[in-house]
Amino acid sequence: LAREFLVNLPFKLTDSQIKALKEIQQAMAAPHPMHRLLQGDVGSGKTVLAAAAALSAVEAGYQAAFMAPTEILARQHFQTLLKLTRPLGLEPILLAGSLPEAEKNKAREKLATGKARLVVGTHSLFSASVKFKALGLAVIDEQHRFGVAQRLALKSKAERPDMLVMTATPIPRSLALTLYGDLDLSIIEGLPPGRSPIKTKVFTPTDREQAYDLLAQEVSMGGQAFVVAPRIEPKDDEVENGEDLSAAEDLFKFVSSTVLPQAKVGLLHGRMNAEDQEKVLESFHQGRTRVLVATTVIEVGLDVPGATVILIESADRFGLAQLHQLRGRVGRGDKSARCFLVSSRMDNLSTQRLEIVAGTNDGFVLAEEDMKLRGPGDAAGIKQSGMPKLTWARLPEDLPLLLQARDLAREMIAKDPEHALPEFRLVREVVDQLDEMIQGELIEAG
Ligand code: ADP
Ligand code: MG
Repeated sequence: LAREFLVNLPFKLTDSQIKALKEIQQAMAAPHPMHRLLQGDVGSGKTVLAAAAALSAVEAGYQAAFMAPTEILARQHFQTLLKLTRPLGLEPILLAGSLPEAEKNKAREKLATGKARLVVGTHSLFSASVKFKALGLAVIDEQHRFGVAQRLALKSKAERPDMLVMTATPIPRSLALTLYGDLDLSIIEGLPPGRSPIKTKVFTPTDREQAYDLLAQEVSMGGQAFVVAPRIEPKDDEVENGEDLSAAEDLFKFVSSTVLPQAKVGLLHGRMNAEDQEKVLESFHQGRTRVLVATTVIEVGLDVPGATVILIESADRFGLAQLHQLRGRVGRGDKSARCFLVSSRMDNLSTQRLEIVAGTNDGFVLAEEDMKLRGPGDAAGIKQSGMPKLTWARLPEDLPLLLQARDLAREMIAKDPEHALPEFRLVREVVDQLDEMIQGELIEAG
């Protein structure tokens, strides 16, 4: 199945993709469960690898689950898989929170009986009501968006499923080891051939108009554009500062009435219901909608090859990695793409930060910079997951020490699988604490 799938693709995998896929498939074939992190920059082509891995699992008689952090992304992945696997005689199913209860029940039953072999979903795949007949592979897309607790919850679904965790916010290697010391690492280097680098430009608040002029120009020349707002409604203090543009709804009015009154402009945010979201996205995909004003719901994963421009309002309020991620929504086709970062502040420090993003298209470089600026927890977006700040280590300087520590830890575990030696006392205490924390989070997460 996996081989046929790859042959049917409209493109050839890059050498780096092939290498990563081989590592994944070898690890899946090994007698112990795979726990692997697949890293690759935005647009590097992780989805097809995950799909091929899923087919390997299916082919071996197991089920594969593909989990995305948002419903928008789950539906997009579902459509992609549907298209790609139908010719192989597979019927992937979707399990998402907004589906009618009857459909959800049907999906659950298909998973429990093993009739469905490939499922795409959101975190609803974790809920206790979902039982698998034989889950062989769990793919978790955009890992940084899920808490550690959710990862463990899915892991506990079958006895020992293989797990492939994917992230497009490249995590610096040192941090990956600290956070995911239990995961092996596969990396896709570079992007598929034929992509031209995204040209990024920083605008101060006084130059804002210029950014919109350029955007209007691109759109009138046949391009499609994203305009990103930091949040849906302005906070009180921002209204006072006159920064009401930060509200997606206001921004939508501004773009559709002032910037591009002749063009079809759409609005997308997380509080719309799934059906409306899908309609808006569909229209943008088909090119009828020329400009999509959106909140950060579009941050990860969205794949609209016709989009060539993205303008990010109040860009100074985003992390560098997040900006890179947002920027990755454009430049996915063969046309050249541009990104406009509009700062809400005049001060030099804000613009300097944004210039770092403008200066490189390499997500790994930005991830390192982000970590230096904001600290490890913030950079990886795992602060909410109860991950403590590092007290003793400094990243990335302490990478060699971390590697040594991990090797020692593995040695200790191999020597004493029961963890009975006194050296393990402290470790056991920490594990117990983490356990409690995770249980707490699971309860909180319902
Ligand atoms: P990400 O790694 O950010 O999840 P995707 O998997 O969404 O990226 O891939 C981005 C786009 O690149 C998709 O449209 C996908 O079909 C395409 N793609 C993936 N691999 C290749 C390749 N080897 N050659 C050309 N296009 C590719
Ligand atoms: Mg992706």
